[in-house]
Amino acid sequence: MALKLGLVGIGKIARDQHIPALAADPRFELVACASRHARVDGVANFATVEAMLAEVKDLDAISICTPPLAHYEAALAALRAGKHVMLEKPPAATTRQISLLQAEAARQGRTLFQTWHSRFAAGVDAARDWLRDRTLTGGTITWKEDVHHWHPGQQWIWEPGGLGVFDPGINALSILTRILPRQPFVTAAELSFPSNCAAPIAADLTLTDTGGLPIAAAFDFRQTGPQSWDIIVDTDGEQLVLSRGGACLTAGGRTLVEAPDEEYPGLYRRFVELVADGASDVDLLPLRLVADAFLLGNRRTVEAFED
Ligand code: NAP
Repeated sequence: MALKLGLVGIGKIARDQHIPALAADPRFELVACASRHARVDGVANFATVEAMLAEVKDLDAISICTPPLAHYEAALAALRAGKHVMLEKPPAATTRQISLLQAEAARQGRTLFQTWHSRFAAGVDAARDWLRDRTLTGGTITWKEDVHHWHPGQQWIWEPGGLGVFDPGINALSILTRILPRQPFVTAAELSFPSNCAAPIAADLTLTDTGGLPIAAAFDFRQTGPQSWDIIVDTDGEQLVLSRGGACLTAGGRTLVEAPDEEYPGLYRRFVELVADGASDVDLLPLRLVADAFLLGNRRTVEAFED
């Protein structure tokens, strides 16, 4: 029987990815939405998660697509009501909130799927396999996109907790932490804050791992022209290039993966598996790397941001 699902926070990602992925997956039935302003045709609409949980008695699960600041309360209410929960990235406003949700999911015997959609890009698992037995010598991340295109009018991204350029940058970190044989940590960061914003528009990170691997990451929201979502890892022989956000993998000069974007169907497939297995999937490491960049980062003020 299909899982009856409620979608929370109807904005760009809900409409671009979640609703189409759910419509194409017979294991889900989208029965309700909760959003303060938006409505979705053909389902029950509510202004709050609490109203949705109270009114739709046979809901099995909710999927939360609001900005991270609104995740904790919605997820907690749903878990306490006995629902399975899937969370968009970034997972929450703080690392502690996710630990509390994880504990609540365990108490309630429900699934908490804290997603990293970029890990579902077609080349990511093959990149991890290719790197597994090689000697790594360095890594470079270039994650540069046009905020006007991808986050049109989204004021929340510039507010405290909105994460600014780390909203996309955390996607690169979610891939990096999946493909490296040893987990990385941040050793330095340069953060550029527009004079009128509480979150950075650009960030340069220096990372390493316990073997001393040098990794440089450049995140920038001011990219015009072609967008860059690339990770390069050098080994003592050959180079691995993961481009187009992980959809394309070239290694040792050969193209190993070149695929269309199938991340969100993959996320919902995984959610069904987790629910069936009575399991949760939570990995805080990418958020901890971002938190550490804020802890260590040298801050400079740059030109005001105009939306
Ligand atoms: P968005 O267009 O701003 O949509 C989010 C919706 O959440 C809003 O339209 C709003 O709808 C609702 N909301 C509830 N509480 C809110 C609050 N305190 N502040 C602002 N909105 C609130 O944002 P989005 O691009 O869909 O991004 C949402 C999440 O998806 C983010 O965590 C982002 O990282 C992730 N994501 C985005 C993209 C992308 O390309 N944009 C890609 C992958 C993942 P109501 O006003 O109707 O409540």
